[in-house]
Amino acid sequence: MLKENLEQVKRNIEAACRRSGRNPEDITLVAVSKMKPLQDIETLLETGQLDYGENYVQELCDKYEHISSPVRWHMIGHLQTNKVKYIIDKVVLIHSVDSVHLAKQIEKEAAKRNLMAQILIQVNIAEEDTKFGIGEDEVFRMIHEISRFPHIHIKGLMTSAPFVENPEENRCYFKKLHELFVDIGRKNIDNVSMEILSMGMTNDYEIAIEEGATMVRVGTGIFGERHYNK
Ligand SMILES: *Cc1c(COP(=O)(O)O)cnc(C)c1O
Repeated sequence: MLKENLEQVKRNIEAACRRSGRNPEDITLVAVSKMKPLQDIETLLETGQLDYGENYVQELCDKYEHISSPVRWHMIGHLQTNKVKYIIDKVVLIHSVDSVHLAKQIEKEAAKRNLMAQILIQVNIAEEDTKFGIGEDEVFRMIHEISRFPHIHIKGLMTSAPFVENPEENRCYFKKLHELFVDIGRKNIDNVSMEILSMGMTNDYEIAIEEGATMVRVGTGIFGERHYNK
């Protein structure tokens, strides 16, 4: 079942690429495994799926410790400064940086371990009250500040679009974030390279790809529904 789901998602990604004249090789699929057992990840690893997204530090660390072969872990959930130290050397990318304060802590922990932290700036592109991320108007200022940190490399932008019945409603937000992504890329800021545009979840990843996503984060579409109160 899991493997079939993954195959279906990949076919949908290819179809979205065909529709928009893009190369499927330019899209990274992050399988969002939060609240799903390690065994599910082990199953998908057999197919060569290497990128997995987690939201919770404790869960990520538990899985990291018990997995049988190496995985490319992505921190996609809201990250508290006091927990940076637990994940800094375990993840390939932190998608959810939304303050200079958090970046400062990432810089500190990365410097201690002499590594370069790869991060994305999380933008609340639809300006929803309930979502983490910074407003569009703050992005340039924040990127300039964070670009001064020597152990951080800003690789791109991330957003979570609103939950909508019809994913077409989110097309305008994806378009807007892509424009911002291109604008920032043109500025050629030191330590900043706009390579990764992380947008699109189960409901709307095909639209996100049509609008320029280079990374999609799909949970339910691969692993099935999550049960929060177990
Ligand atoms: C849970 C989550 C996802 C995956 O959501 P699905 O709708 O299950 O695909 C993607 N991104 C973030 C930030 C999430 O928290």
